[in-house]
Amino acid sequence: MSNVTISVRFRPLNSSERRGYDDAICFQALDAKSFWFTDEKEDDVLFCFDKVFYPDCGQADVYEFLAMPIIGDAMNGINGTIITYGQTGAGKTYSMEGPNIFDCDEHDKGLLQRVVDGLLESLKSSTDMAKCTLKLSMVEIYMDKIRDLFDLSKDNLQIKQGKNQEMYISGATEISISNALEAMRSLSRGIANRAVGETQMNLASSRSHCLYIFLVQRESVTDGRMRTGKIVLVDLAGSEKVEKTGAGGRILDEAKKINKSLSSLGNVINALTTGKTSHIPYRDSKLTRILRDALGGNSRTALLCCCSPSPSNASESLSTLRFGTRAKLIKTPLIAIASEQKDNIEKTTPNNSHDRVLENLR
Ligand code: ADP
Ligand code: MG
Repeated sequence: MSNVTISVRFRPLNSSERRGYDDAICFQALDAKSFWFTDEKEDDVLFCFDKVFYPDCGQADVYEFLAMPIIGDAMNGINGTIITYGQTGAGKTYSMEGPNIFDCDEHDKGLLQRVVDGLLESLKSSTDMAKCTLKLSMVEIYMDKIRDLFDLSKDNLQIKQGKNQEMYISGATEISISNALEAMRSLSRGIANRAVGETQMNLASSRSHCLYIFLVQRESVTDGRMRTGKIVLVDLAGSEKVEKTGAGGRILDEAKKINKSLSSLGNVINALTTGKTSHIPYRDSKLTRILRDALGGNSRTALLCCCSPSPSNASESLSTLRFGTRAKLIKTPLIAIASEQKDNIEKTTPNNSHDRVLENLR
């Protein structure tokens, strides 16, 4: 079993897609994991993933499949990453934030609100813990520079490597969170800081990668050990091709940087699927350096490939699905993490899902 799961989400048709294509859709569902994809230019293609969320699936379904296992692991000191990938307008931000981070119905809440609730709930219900803290940072990568969305004066943060070889963003503001309201206030402030850039930087939100970083620390009463788990949610920039944007000047420069970091991500994924662990080109972009732990085996990772259901976007959706198919081939056991945390895992969760982690150590 791999520690990388790949899912696909088709959002509902929007009104202009309905008008233009008479309610037509580009896929035919087979079951919860597979579908036929139709592109006028090619033969129908059969795709299989770990899970497919069709347009009638709700936000809770996405949370349960993608995030709940990651929250459980983070409480035991295993890192997790959730990445949304796809063309602009495909539903990445909706899956992350819902229609509005601060003010939305229970039903519409995105992964972020649900992860905050889930982490706070788990912290509250954990016995044996003397001290628990939950911290949040929020940064965006724009033009290959890392900007702190909680402190805009920090506009060129650097990536460093910690003593356990883990990657972290040095100097990023960390906000302590003790309740959901506080978290939503901070998140909406960060999102507003992104939107400030939006008018100045031509829709920066679809041209930058946004990272939400949660750090959970728990100190055990019985053994006095500190367990730290990190969950990173990544809302990637739109994956559409440059030609389609009709771009020139700075927009073209932006598009090239986005394409470069997304293609570095693709290259890292390709390299990982060969099974060789040397020469993985993580250093090619800030995005891949930060995601090194997520993709290289130190983390549980869920990739959500977001697609429009409309034939009008079929070629972009096909490229998203092919990206997901390649990522599905990554098979990286949790060796690094397991060797560091073997004791931790054995003490806290005997005979459960971590058996496969321990198996890798034998
Ligand atoms: P992206 O972040 O990929 O550019 P968005 O998440 O902003 O795309 O989605 C584009 C539009 O589609 C938004 O108006 C959003 O509310 C809507 N949308 C996306 N996914 C869904 C969904 N699953 N259900 C309802 N509306 C959605
Ligand atoms: Mg978006």
